[in-house]
Amino acid sequence: MSAAEARAAQDQAAGPGASASDDGWVLRYVGYDPADEGRREALCTVGNGYLATRGAAAESRADGVHYPGTYVAGLYNRLQDRVDGRVVENESLVNLPNWLATRFRIDGGPWLDAGHAEVVEQAQELDLRRAVLTRRTRLRDGEGRTTTVTERRLVSMDQPHVCAQQLTYVPEDWSGRLEVRSVLDGAVRNSLVARYRALDGRHLDLVRTAAPAPDTVLLEMVTTRSAIRVAMAARTVVRRDGRPVEVERRLVDDGPVVGHLLVFDAQASEPVVLEKTVTVFTGRDRAIAEPAHEAVRWLPRVGGFDDLLGRHALAWAHLWQLFYLDMERDGGLLPILRLHLLHLLQSVSPASVGLDVGVPARGLHGEAYRGHIFWDELFVLPVLNLRLPALTRSLLRYRRRRLPEARAAAQEAGFSGAMFPWQSGSNGEEESQLLHLNPASGRWVPDPTRRQRHVGLAVAYNVWQHYQATGDREFLVHEGAETLLEVARFWGSLAAYDESRGRYVVRGVMGPDEFHSGYPGVEQVGVDNNAYTNVMAAWVLQRALDTLHLLPTLKRHELEERMGLQRAELARWRDVAQGLFVPFHDGVISQFEGYEKLEELDWAAYRARYGNIQRLDRILEAEGDSVNRYKASKQADTVMLFYLLSADELREVLEHLGYCLEPELIPRTVRYYLERSSHGSTLSALVHAWVLARSDRTRALEFLDQTLRADVADIQGGTTPEGIHLAAMAGSVDLLQRCFCGLETRQDQLVLDPYWPESLGVMEFAIRYREQPILVRVRGDRAEVAAGPGMWRPVRVSCRGELAELAPGARLAFPLVTAPSTTASQRGL
Ligand code: BGC
Repeated sequence: MSAAEARAAQDQAAGPGASASDDGWVLRYVGYDPADEGRREALCTVGNGYLATRGAAAESRADGVHYPGTYVAGLYNRLQDRVDGRVVENESLVNLPNWLATRFRIDGGPWLDAGHAEVVEQAQELDLRRAVLTRRTRLRDGEGRTTTVTERRLVSMDQPHVCAQQLTYVPEDWSGRLEVRSVLDGAVRNSLVARYRALDGRHLDLVRTAAPAPDTVLLEMVTTRSAIRVAMAARTVVRRDGRPVEVERRLVDDGPVVGHLLVFDAQASEPVVLEKTVTVFTGRDRAIAEPAHEAVRWLPRVGGFDDLLGRHALAWAHLWQLFYLDMERDGGLLPILRLHLLHLLQSVSPASVGLDVGVPARGLHGEAYRGHIFWDELFVLPVLNLRLPALTRSLLRYRRRRLPEARAAAQEAGFSGAMFPWQSGSNGEEESQLLHLNPASGRWVPDPTRRQRHVGLAVAYNVWQHYQATGDREFLVHEGAETLLEVARFWGSLAAYDESRGRYVVRGVMGPDEFHSGYPGVEQVGVDNNAYTNVMAAWVLQRALDTLHLLPTLKRHELEERMGLQRAELARWRDVAQGLFVPFHDGVISQFEGYEKLEELDWAAYRARYGNIQRLDRILEAEGDSVNRYKASKQADTVMLFYLLSADELREVLEHLGYCLEPELIPRTVRYYLERSSHGSTLSALVHAWVLARSDRTRALEFLDQTLRADVADIQGGTTPEGIHLAAMAGSVDLLQRCFCGLETRQDQLVLDPYWPESLGVMEFAIRYREQPILVRVRGDRAEVAAGPGMWRPVRVSCRGELAELAPGARLAFPLVTAPSTTASQRGL
């Protein structure tokens, strides 16, 4: 591919209106497009895992086009509303005061922004290497005066409580008085998501404002119910040629809006620079006396924009070393993969280690799903396990801390063990809404998704995978084991013995496919024997028994005593693990019992009538019908089994359950559901790319492409502005490393079985396997592993049956002349 072709491919891949350049390290949008502003804001978010701010223009407000949201990880508040005569309560990640708010005007004229001046030119660039957003706007006011404003913005990866803005004003063709109004704007509410707008969104009360120094203001607010204090302090400095400028400074102090009006003379063609440095602390922070005290105390210790930028860039350089990924002929993939990694690390990062936060499904980039934590960590943690295991541990602790709540939930539902909620927020109670608005019909309809009990299986799976990837027995023994065992215990108690078939059954659940909340006519009660749930429950019960054997005797006894785990219960786990029922029909695994009786949907007719039918559930409800009647899935459900388990593992579980996995079963099942899926979740394309990788390269690459475009092109048509899809972002990287490169961590080995598309050239990436830095390089005919700098212990590596030892300083090459593993030990087919 020529350089020009590569550039064109990158631009196309970067999504509508965007271009990727500078060797694929910049996401650039040229021009101002109000209709696309929401997507750009989400994709231009800057953050550090502690806090993030959407890429809204500094002078913008929430006005239907712009939405300058700022969120601190894990900072939630609950509000009550009356809907359809019922009281509903929702917990949401709180939109915090807008620290960006900066506007300007000339000689007392109107405040200038995109709505009140002509936008002569606008371009914005997100520097992916350093996580810096730059926006350059040329505005012309009603009197024909043109001003160029260039804003650079960062949320420090080096000092998580600090964010900063640098605005450079250049009067192009005028001289006069420039007034800049720079405030902390606490008059905000949660109003990004149109579907939630009918509900209350006011989460913050003003505590106080202050001006602790001539150039500094403080805004202190408190969440209305969770009573979490939030303090922001801002310092503004104006400079010309690097030297502070004398300005007339007036305090703006208007309710929850506090800041300064800075008035000074501006000369044509002479740049004037305003720097705004902001500290953010909340009542959830550790090692603090009190948020306002810290915000004010730390501000003078923080240097100017360039100092901050230097250290911030260094922190990112270190992160990019850990997450190193390069491709020779990427056809536009690489910039998107980098963008995905950037947003992953802006949502959860080293700054999140030790915080009590989980993996928010939509990042810290918007308000969709109210910032809740779902099972999506299943798709995110594998990327982190092999690079930042300390972060994975920290994220798993979010679940562990909520184990008592999950135990209580199980008990209240009449079971034992731990029942994790489908949607989790501050304290781990079930946060799924009771009713949700169907925008297609305007009706509030019941939301039964809390029946997705499989979320706990994902938690247990993640604990086990973390152990496999890191070999960290310490964590397993002291923290992971109990979580995994309590989840197993829940399934041991939920499974009921059905005398008539001599098997255990699980009734009244929902699988990952959210289109099936019940049977036709009995809509909300869940389905019976969801195959994904039952097989994964059997797998978790077996891993729980394995885990007990891994524990040192004393620890095992302690844990058994603490949990009151008796022999009889362990015997039941064994029994359930080999007795759970799995439904089959027409030579495929049934998504759930009775699936075969559902009607076929006329997909062609619905596509013809509606175009986009991803959310078939909404369409059918609006028609007075129900998706429960049809063989139609929102997303991968049964095929998730082939995503999570290698064919060998799946065969083992099924054989243990007394079923036989004949070779054709997997491809047949994949094809069957592929024809019946609307892919209404971004997770669906990711999983399908994975499971098709070895049997249908072309379709797999199409699904990879959809996964890559999920957010950059907002393929769901309007969901990206409400927040990124973090699982699809992380999953796209994982797809290349674990699926296409066939990278697995099992049996104390690093296993490679690449099925690498030659069209993608060479891919090289860094991982840390059991603390050893390793560089993996794969191309169509060859796989290589090399010891990374600082490797101190040999690692066993196997590739297609050939086992070798990678010693510190060494390199191993495996020719890939033979076909990929015919035993299909890898996930996928
Ligand atoms: C999907 C879920 C997912 C959630 C959050 C839903 O649309 O169906 O599987 O966990 O989004 O990403």
